[in-house]
Amino acid sequence: MEKKLELTFYGGTGSVTGANFILREPDGLTLMFDCGLTQGEVVCDNCNLDDFPYDVAAVDYLFVSHAHIDHIGRIPKLVHDGFRGKIISTPPTKDIAELLLIDSIGVLEKEAKRGGTPPLFGREDVERALSVWETAGYHEELAIGEFKIIFKDAGHILGSAMTEVSYGAKKIVFTGDLGNSPEPILRDTEAVGHPNYLVMESVYGDRAHEHRDERRRLLEDVISQTYNRKGVLMIPAFSVERTQLLLHELNAMIEEGLIPPVPVYLDSPLAIKVTAIYGKHKSYLADEALQSLTGGKDLFDFPWLHRVMQSEESKRIIEKPAPKIIIAGSGMSNGGRIVHHEKAYLPDPNNTLLLVGYQAAGTPGRVLQDGASEVELMGESVPVRARVLTVSGYSAHRDKDGLFDFVAGGVDTLEQVYAVMGEPKAALFLVQRVRDNLGINASAPEAGQTIVLDF
Ligand SMILES: [Zn+2]
Repeated sequence: MEKKLELTFYGGTGSVTGANFILREPDGLTLMFDCGLTQGEVVCDNCNLDDFPYDVAAVDYLFVSHAHIDHIGRIPKLVHDGFRGKIISTPPTKDIAELLLIDSIGVLEKEAKRGGTPPLFGREDVERALSVWETAGYHEELAIGEFKIIFKDAGHILGSAMTEVSYGAKKIVFTGDLGNSPEPILRDTEAVGHPNYLVMESVYGDRAHEHRDERRRLLEDVISQTYNRKGVLMIPAFSVERTQLLLHELNAMIEEGLIPPVPVYLDSPLAIKVTAIYGKHKSYLADEALQSLTGGKDLFDFPWLHRVMQSEESKRIIEKPAPKIIIAGSGMSNGGRIVHHEKAYLPDPNNTLLLVGYQAAGTPGRVLQDGASEVELMGESVPVRARVLTVSGYSAHRDKDGLFDFVAGGVDTLEQVYAVMGEPKAALFLVQRVRDNLGINASAPEAGQTIVLDF
């Protein structure tokens, strides 16, 4: 007998952030995929505080693709609001999520005070979420009712997973975010396999990254220029993956004698803590990285690297002579220590701001990327005379061809592709390409849209 499931897109439609999807078995189980924060969108303001538009207590399982905040940020609120099910992710995802969620409590409390609203969640909510959070490795089959579920390596950040759901005679895959493979630290994104339905990210659906050699040359050039100008190079970076990749790259460039000796300040306690998690989950690393580690090498350490934990130390970076490189969060300059450095150094034309990650619409990072001559940081207008450069080659996401090739791998079985987690232009570009070149039905769903799928 033909079975049916209902798929509803509650978040991550028309925007990169806020991933939240639900698959319902009529009169049966309710499975949720990711429960992320909406970040930086002008339309949102306080939307993360809104009630969930469904019965939270009816959700039986939440599968978490990876530990980025736009995929996990509302989990503590979900638990607070009555979720009584189980949360399941890979072990590194749980560890990184714990760090990131606990770390965000302070920021949320400050924001709440400023806005006169209650904080999104507190420590108790995070602890309750962790107490119902179980883990499964890649390819460990979970049998849940009539569902069979496995995680596959998405190659995006440490522990990142696609979730493959088999039900009746068919399969649906939720990609989470897909990595920019090959990368030196992580294993390659696995093939899509043979699903019938695909809910896939489309962050860079309409854009290409530089070639790998090109990204390294760009980084080399900007470091040499910083050295020659006695300037400051600021790199806003996400604490997970981008920072580790940059440290790994700088390490390699120093060993090969490609860059002059510029001190590097890793001004992020969170990134320092996340880096330690990489050592704990060695089996999730690429072979090359694993070999270096077992050979006794520290993947992310090199001379001239200063790890800055205390905020007093962070404040003293300004006294250190230029040239210097500062890597700090947040990746979109909407908070964190990078904002203090930007206030100090953006007004000077000898300095450079290097953007290596995605800058969501509405964030200061996006304003800077778009070439603004001034930017508002912590309620203050700051003139921008420093150079602002973007290197997309260090992105943790596949670019337009990478995404297309990924879908093309499933052409024999795919009946329908849903492009999510992209701004409308990017999602629609991918949709059109999949329809025209692969002959597969594709669409960019709208917020709240429900689709009945045959299984
Ligand atoms: Zn991500």
